[in-house]
Amino acid sequence: MSTFPGLIEEIPGISVDRFDGKNFDSFAYFLSHYHVDHMQGLNYEFFAHLQQCNRYLYCSRISKIFLSSVYPEICIRELDLNERISVEYGDTSGTADILFVTCISAGHCPGSVMFLFERADKSILYTGDFRINSSDFAKIAPLHLHGGFKKPSPRKLTKVYLDTTFLDPDFATFPTRKDSISVMCDVIANWLATGPRNIVILECSANYGPEFLFMELSRFFSKPIHVKRNVYNNYCRIPDLSCHITNDPSTPIHACMSKREARWGLKCRPDVLKKHTLTVVPSTCKWKGKDTSVIGTWDDVRERTFNLCFSMHSSFEELKAFVQYFKPDEIFPCVCPKHLERYIYDLLEEIKRKPEEEKKDVVQEDEKYTLQVLKHKDIDKSWMKDY
Ligand SMILES: [Zn+2]
Ligand SMILES: [Zn+2]
Repeated sequence: MSTFPGLIEEIPGISVDRFDGKNFDSFAYFLSHYHVDHMQGLNYEFFAHLQQCNRYLYCSRISKIFLSSVYPEICIRELDLNERISVEYGDTSGTADILFVTCISAGHCPGSVMFLFERADKSILYTGDFRINSSDFAKIAPLHLHGGFKKPSPRKLTKVYLDTTFLDPDFATFPTRKDSISVMCDVIANWLATGPRNIVILECSANYGPEFLFMELSRFFSKPIHVKRNVYNNYCRIPDLSCHITNDPSTPIHACMSKREARWGLKCRPDVLKKHTLTVVPSTCKWKGKDTSVIGTWDDVRERTFNLCFSMHSSFEELKAFVQYFKPDEIFPCVCPKHLERYIYDLLEEIKRKPEEEKKDVVQEDEKYTLQVLKHKDIDKSWMKDY
């Protein structure tokens, strides 16, 4: 859960992912992705304020689709990936200033981006929530300097506002999403094969986030996923996603209920008996301190329930690799509960200091997960990797 207060110290007058309190007085606003903990203060009053003052909220194309189903489109400006644009804004002293912004895919959920802000001699990266495999760092063009025939070198970053959700050695490594999904497809395929009445409930915790799972499952089984009513219309407006979801409950895979509701069986199909349902619970927190090379396990208490390790945030090792690759001068942890502040800052100092050689081990970590992967060639992650 983001604890970032919204203001970027080095660039007075802009707010990112927080829109209430002092942020109300900012001159330009940025939203990294459509998750509620990054949207505090986004309401009708805020948009009326934007309209009145001729100010804008900047975000990705997909976030704009989500937002404009609720709020006036006129105040929302969409940013293209990897394109450096200038934004004119007033600072707190009342003088106009120019800021350069580049939007970079964050690999967290549809439409999630990082922002590279450049002003005067400072380059500030705000990661939002992100998960990027360490082997892909070198492919992030806007974060590298490209000069002549020389190999691009990582850009000097003055400060990184970092997604520290799993900056904790107890969340050392996570399986890649591709491997998590392969295991999940395997379990679901076995279950559906054991009886024509069998169905699957996906117990997902957030309204927005598990879309990558939906797309991959739907591709694998050639069946759309039944999703919650409140997200269906928004998903339909995203071409990459619309063909993978449905509002028709006759499909065998369901993600149409909240976590709490899912415990009481399938609401949309009262005809389905409990003994015909398999529940799959994708989560990360359940794996705290555990061996994540296992990827998934059957629940000890709940019947026909499979717990899957699946993360949309970077693991501790992935964060460490990111910090050691870009070597920012300063880091601000964006997920930092008050009581853990000291611990998190100490950890950040420690990972900044670690020697270069450790990087090799980190890359190998990703290759460790070679479980019985089903033949699943058609994995298209273009919306997740667009560097
Ligand atoms: Zn998020
Ligand atoms: Zn359903």
